[in-house]
Amino acid sequence: MSVALPSTVPLGHRFADELPEMAVPWQAEEAPDPQLLVLNEPLAAELGLDPAALRGAAGVRLLVGADVPAGATPVAQAYAGHQFGGFNPRLGDGRALLLGELTDPAGRLRDLHLKGSGRTPFARGGDGLAAVGPMLREYVVSEAMHALGIPTTRALAVVATGRPVRREELLPGALLARVASSHLRVGSFQYAAASGDLDLLRRLADHAIARHHPEAAAAERPALALFESVVAAQASLVAQWMLVGFVHGVMNTDNVTISGETIDYGPCAFLDAFDPATVYSSIDTGGRYAYGNQPVVAEWDLARLAEALLPLIDDDQERAIALAVDALGAFRPHYNAAWTAGMRTKLGLPEGLDDAVVGAFADDLLVLLQADHVDHTSFYRGLGRVARGDAEPTRNLFLDLAGFDAWVERWRATGPDADAMDRVNPVYVPRNHLVEEALTAATGGDLAPLHGLLDAVTRPFDERPELARYAEPAPVDFGAYRTFCGT
Ligand code: AMP
Ligand code: MG
Repeated sequence: MSVALPSTVPLGHRFADELPEMAVPWQAEEAPDPQLLVLNEPLAAELGLDPAALRGAAGVRLLVGADVPAGATPVAQAYAGHQFGGFNPRLGDGRALLLGELTDPAGRLRDLHLKGSGRTPFARGGDGLAAVGPMLREYVVSEAMHALGIPTTRALAVVATGRPVRREELLPGALLARVASSHLRVGSFQYAAASGDLDLLRRLADHAIARHHPEAAAAERPALALFESVVAAQASLVAQWMLVGFVHGVMNTDNVTISGETIDYGPCAFLDAFDPATVYSSIDTGGRYAYGNQPVVAEWDLARLAEALLPLIDDDQERAIALAVDALGAFRPHYNAAWTAGMRTKLGLPEGLDDAVVGAFADDLLVLLQADHVDHTSFYRGLGRVARGDAEPTRNLFLDLAGFDAWVERWRATGPDADAMDRVNPVYVPRNHLVEEALTAATGGDLAPLHGLLDAVTRPFDERPELARYAEPAPVDFGAYRTFCGT
């Protein structure tokens, strides 16, 4: 069953009702000439929405927030956040709106959210807008992440607004319709905590528990149990980023979700050559959000969540701190277990092999990959071929052939399972040069490269000979890659 008429999409307003202090009723700025650029039909169907209706004029008006279904209460959400380590008590949706919450046919509550929908009371100096390129980047990368099996917000559609956006140059404007299990962030809790309103903080925790970690409600200390669940979800999420070579690029506390979904695809990128020091973001000069720093930064962000939750954990602050520190202590073991389990499958190693042996295989390998600047994605996929006896193409990625041969000899002796490897090591990720090519073409009005790329990355494990160019590393003249925030 799907909803045929966009005006009848039943959008709830539970966040606005339960947390009015953090929800400013607001409406989208009118888009002068909305044109649907891309619609995620499988996601629409998953939400119980009729793709054909969304493509129609009324559907597009819903996707740009011009027509809001009866009974909905779109709001800009308030949140705070540490940005590059500095606390800002008032960030919030400067250019976004929560249209409302949809219960999908599977019974899950999903936020329907717009990004690029105009200035809100949280816009500060910003114009409230977004350009076609960055909104399509979020579409491509978040859908690629979903296809890779990594928890993420989803992209339902990108609509060009017909309004130019001034960045370094004038660019065509667009708006992204995003779907998430919620938009609660670490920064949401920081906002409630900084307000000094303990009742608000308690309602926010109850809301988060009900939506994401319902088992915490029955715990002796629900806020502590909520924290433990978020620690576990984030540890597992960041381990998955590391395994696939994803660099988020701006892990400020306002970009860390309570659900454990990846959110806010701004300066994100996938590794080409493996190097823990890799930074793509133009403003991250200190490398705070470098690839290899992501687990440590996630742990730091979670410590900020713990601080915000302290008053709910125990009335005695010393006791609350001790409990929170103890709970945060679970991050590293959880992360290590998730990463080691992931490495075991990436390397096709048997279940019986000791974790310490898996760890040693991985550590030795990473030294080789880093030393020879080996392409991350090509290597792991190629390793499946090595397991099948076809070593040469992967061997050629290395300069230290003796080092590679010695590692492979040890590794092959474990009897690696090539089919299992191919199920977790993607052929296609949104490579930086391909993303740039697709976004540049789309900005100029040609959507064909975007659709080609989406076809590859939304079936990432399914090798298709005609898509060979999507599996290749960037040409050497592509140069150093730079990405940007707030685009
Ligand atoms: P982000 O780096 O995208 O997570 O955004 C950080 C903060 O800046 C959030 O509060 C955004 O709403 C806000 N922001 C980013 N770009 C704009 C813009 N063009 N206009 C208004 N607010 C913005
Ligand atoms: Mg953000």
